[in-house]
Amino acid sequence: MGTRGREILESFGVKVNELIKMLNKAFADEWLAYYQYWIGAKVAVGMPKEAVVAELTQHSADELRHAGMVADRIIQLGGKPLLEPKEWIAQTNCGYDRPDDPDVRVLLEQNIKGEQCAITQYKKIMDYTQGKDPVTYDMALKILEDEIEHEEDLEAIKEDIKVMESKLK
Ligand code: FE
Ligand code: FE
Ligand code: MG
Repeated sequence: MGTRGREILESFGVKVNELIKMLNKAFADEWLAYYQYWIGAKVAVGMPKEAVVAELTQHSADELRHAGMVADRIIQLGGKPLLEPKEWIAQTNCGYDRPDDPDVRVLLEQNIKGEQCAITQYKKIMDYTQGKDPVTYDMALKILEDEIEHEEDLEAIKEDIKVMESKLK
């Protein structure tokens, strides 16, 4: 970001360096979410496996796209996206839940927790930029809409599993 662009954001009360830090944490979260979904889709077992694999695979692609959006904004702001995978673990807000148990029900729980964390983080970025940095605000809103959909999708499968299990009893 140019000097004048930065001055304007700062004059609206945005601490650009703080914002870049927040965005880098979100960037770390996106990469970890991407991989957690991607590997989860590979190892998943149980019912309904196909629906879960399809959803996890789609979400992994969305998280990777989010990582790209956040990286682009960090660069526009004059920052540098994290350059080392080990920084993802050091900077993450939402963490990484290793899918030790490949049971689809466990994977769903882990990923629902991740989405809830992501929703909280993007809400924070929106609160920080509202009325001050509309570009970052709009980006966070777009991503937030996806994360809300992700949470709903996973919770819907969880409900289906409950119904299925109750019929098997
Ligand atoms: Fe995401
Ligand atoms: Fe998501
Ligand atoms: Mg979905």
